[in-house]
Amino acid sequence: MRIVFIGPPGAGKGTQAERIIAKYATAHLSTGDMLRAARDAKTEVGVKAEKYMSSGQLVPDEVVIDVISERLQQPDCQKGYLLDGFPRTIAQAEALDAMLAQKQTPLDVVLELKVPEEELFKRLAGRGRADDKPEVIRERLVAYTKQTSPLLDYYGKKRLLKSVDGLGSIDGIFAEIETILDKYV
Ligand code: AMP
Repeated sequence: MRIVFIGPPGAGKGTQAERIIAKYATAHLSTGDMLRAARDAKTEVGVKAEKYMSSGQLVPDEVVIDVISERLQQPDCQKGYLLDGFPRTIAQAEALDAMLAQKQTPLDVVLELKVPEEELFKRLAGRGRADDKPEVIRERLVAYTKQTSPLLDYYGKKRLLKSVDGLGSIDGIFAEIETILDKYV
């Protein structure tokens, strides 16, 4: 199963992603995790990404697209994957479409975890990561609204989008996700 998982920062995507991976045995492709690892290892990509990440902005498309296109070649992606945090812009979505068309492996479903903005700010402020300073949080939410939320329309038009209400218990939200994903197994 090939899944794209979209949701604003603080929606609880990480928690649900872990559960999806465990139940559906797909590879977990989180560009946030990959970029943090690259930053900590001070690789060329990591050095380029650092200034964007620390200010809450998106890393340039070409950098992220390179990272993900390399990752998609790995053998563990053959049986499917959960793309977590990618694509985040229309340009990234178009690049992904082109890569997958070439491999003849289209996406099965795009899951959106939906949480209202006031709730996100509350949750993010309580999390205490280095990139969770109020001004950085605000910037990350702005990036989501401006650059990522247009993807909902993009995938909606392709009839791939399924939205899940991200307010509620972790178990309740996962049950909703299961109802959707079980149809694609
Ligand atoms: P995340 O853990 O997914 O919230 O990502 C943390 C940070 O990494 C983001 O705030 C961005 O700076 C960067 N990042 C992760 N994924 C992407 C992406 N697909 N495009 C651009 N920047 C990204």
